[in-house]
Amino acid sequence: MMISSLIIEINKVGESMNGMVSVKEGKRNLISHNVVDFLNPDYVYIPILEDFSIEIETNSQVFKEEVMLRKGSKLVYAPISGTVIGATESMRVNDREVRCVVIANDFREKVNHKKSAMKYINEYVKEDFIELIKKYNAYEGDIPEDIKVLVVNGIDPDPFEKTASFIIDNHSSQILETIDAISSILKLDTTILAINNNDSENVINLTNNIGTYPNITLRLVPDIYPIGFKEVLVKSILTKKQEKGGYLYLSAQDIYTIYNVLKRNKPMTERLVTVGGNAIDKSFVVNVKIGTSLSDIIKNCCNIVNDDYYVIVNGLIAGKTLSTLNNVITTETRSIFLNTKDTQKEKKCINCGLCNSKCPVGLNPKYLKDHKRADRSKCIHCGLCTYICPSKINFKPYLGGNDE
Ligand code: SF4
Ligand code: SF4
Repeated sequence: MMISSLIIEINKVGESMNGMVSVKEGKRNLISHNVVDFLNPDYVYIPILEDFSIEIETNSQVFKEEVMLRKGSKLVYAPISGTVIGATESMRVNDREVRCVVIANDFREKVNHKKSAMKYINEYVKEDFIELIKKYNAYEGDIPEDIKVLVVNGIDPDPFEKTASFIIDNHSSQILETIDAISSILKLDTTILAINNNDSENVINLTNNIGTYPNITLRLVPDIYPIGFKEVLVKSILTKKQEKGGYLYLSAQDIYTIYNVLKRNKPMTERLVTVGGNAIDKSFVVNVKIGTSLSDIIKNCCNIVNDDYYVIVNGLIAGKTLSTLNNVITTETRSIFLNTKDTQKEKKCINCGLCNSKCPVGLNPKYLKDHKRADRSKCIHCGLCTYICPSKINFKPYLGGNDE
């Protein structure tokens, strides 16, 4: 599916830099400043991931934050309290069919144990810190012994998303406290929080408060796409030596999740998601339960202005187009866009060279499209080549990403 050129325009090539482009303002600013809450879906759907066992029986009551699924030490928690009414095959995650456990909401948000809050989260020792963040799925990767650098990405990967920006705006003191705690628990030398220099409220707020945290360096990076992608950001803010020596990379959402884990042993049960696109009257950021269906969010929160729309998740430029609204919010969902269908047809390549010259990792997308066996492993699936092509050529199906 092509992106509507009415919504996204790129500045003239001369205004772009370093294989990246700046995206014009326009609809980006029309996002409501208040977070919309949608925390009372009738049902939530918990995907049964591969090799996970179900820990709760059908028709039994479940508490919020109770363990639902288990695979070894990996646990999946209930985002609401209610009754487990069985499993369904009808829901999807990123458009892939996944069997889900269904919980009928009792709207009581009952938790089994009230957990006391940890006063100073920087008092954890490294081993306990690692055990906790693994137990509550706050971080999946390994933390190498000799790690010395932490990069926190406070930039929204997509220029039309405001999720990371809102997380920092709503929880700036917790974010700074947590980054500082991680830095001291892991005894790091360098701790960088990167945000967009266009993210004005956060720039002002963090600049005013960062002095309290001498361990943390605030880096303001230019508002160019795809600077919010891990590979691009890391290259632009770390030295080659720091990059080679290994670093820990966390998003603003990861940091906020870690804060709740360290402070209250609380798993992620809800998250902020940007909802935008030209088929709704106004873009906004919604706080939703994990496991909520997209159809419930759209029915309850969106004012549709054009019924002939399609849905794309996790970025208007790089995201995945969905074939059904029976998809669920997961811990990875950042954004949902409802966009009108683009009637412009794909045309013949005019050999302008833009796709090649603007690829941030130096690939030639045209070559990859034409050569099935070419090495695509460096592609970061930023969608820039598709976005930038004046002939509307869609490269996504040829790049080995989730649109293939
Ligand atoms: S080839 Fe991959 S990395 Fe390069 S612009 Fe296209 S999607 Fe981005
Ligand atoms: S950007 Fe589009 S038109 Fe230009 S060279 Fe690439 S494929 Fe051809």
